[in-house]
Amino acid sequence: MHEPAIPTLTAADPQVAELVQAEARRQFDKVRLIASENYVSTAVLEATGSVLTNKYSEGYAGRRYYEGQQVIDQVELLAVARAKELFGVDHANVQPYSGSPANLAVYLAFLEPGEKVMGMALPMGGHLTHGWNVSATGKWFQSVRYGVRRETGRVDMDEVRDLALAERPKVIFCGGTAIPRTIDFPAFAAIAEEVGAVLVADIAHIAGLVAGGAHPSPVGHAPVITTTTHKTLRGPRGAMVLTDAEHAKAIDKAVFPGLQGGPHNHTTAAIAVALGEALTPDFRTYAHAIVANAQALAAALVERGFDLVSGGTDNHLILIDLTSKELGGKPAAQALDRAGVELNYNAVPFDSRKPFDPSGIRLGTAAITTRGLGVEQMPQVAAWIDRAVAAAGDDAELDRIGREVAELMAAYPMPGWA
Ligand SMILES: *Cc1c(COP(=O)(O)O)cnc(C)c1O
Repeated sequence: MHEPAIPTLTAADPQVAELVQAEARRQFDKVRLIASENYVSTAVLEATGSVLTNKYSEGYAGRRYYEGQQVIDQVELLAVARAKELFGVDHANVQPYSGSPANLAVYLAFLEPGEKVMGMALPMGGHLTHGWNVSATGKWFQSVRYGVRRETGRVDMDEVRDLALAERPKVIFCGGTAIPRTIDFPAFAAIAEEVGAVLVADIAHIAGLVAGGAHPSPVGHAPVITTTTHKTLRGPRGAMVLTDAEHAKAIDKAVFPGLQGGPHNHTTAAIAVALGEALTPDFRTYAHAIVANAQALAAALVERGFDLVSGGTDNHLILIDLTSKELGGKPAAQALDRAGVELNYNAVPFDSRKPFDPSGIRLGTAAITTRGLGVEQMPQVAAWIDRAVAAAGDDAELDRIGREVAELMAAYPMPGWA
């Protein structure tokens, strides 16, 4: 059953209540390997479900456009103080509704329409909002894109520098959604300085690892840092922009009134809770366990003949090129889902297939690490992946794997389920 219990919802709207229960059950039964997902704590769930959702508070603490902010100001100031302490930054804006609006705030703060931004290409591991053509950021701004080396699967810093010198972008994004390796923030900072660009580190995926000391921090290298709060950081769906003192005002003005109206105060409270959790020694242990699990899973997959982009991982994320298995990413992901192993199909660098049916699958260990799986379980997870990929189309075998998965996962508690 969902935890906290939902008796009032069950009585008032059994249809929705049943769907909530079904989703909780699904999350309990599966090996959830979607790299951007996690399980938040019950405390985060309670804050998200609180009456703070009833309040409007356009503006910032002490400078609001609506009355009655005696409590909300304290909530937001607490979230801001914890964000500053956790990441060691001068300034934090905790109001962006999600990662994409947080990145849009960067454009509004530092670029005029038509000016130039540089980011990692989407099929190479970048995010839509780093200037990809189907995104507003690629339509309304000029964008130039860097990628990874074909032989290494790693970002080519020489290419980044050459491109930056030739194109002179005003903003450079580093970070992305499918990068299995450590991001070299000092190298990006040196390039940004050389061309006079604002370096923005988008740490949406790795924020929890940075907070827990399991990935180098961009602080001191990137004056502007954007992040979601719901991936490895294990908070509610939301985002933050962290800056040095110099860039604080421009970002605040861009978030409000530039882009948004009232902040989602229930989310702000839940972000404060998650940041409080991330400030504990337990979270440092968690962050390192995520990486240890990813590396153990990567090793077990390589042993089974899987081809990993860049050969392995430094963080929570693994990108598998299935070309050698003669199965597309999409049918593989669908077979795996039926087998209780949830992940997403994904383009790999230099992909020869189409974006809606690419050659790869992406997985991450943040959620299963929260469940309590350790390095000892990773060979079993790799074995299920191997069996399911080989059994694509054989529904009986996939269902058999699914039952084994659910049986194992039943031994690992899930916050949000009792
Ligand atoms: C997830 C992600 C985002 C966008 O976050 P949403 O909350 O989905 O809008 C932005 N940048 C990167 C690198 C991401 O991984």
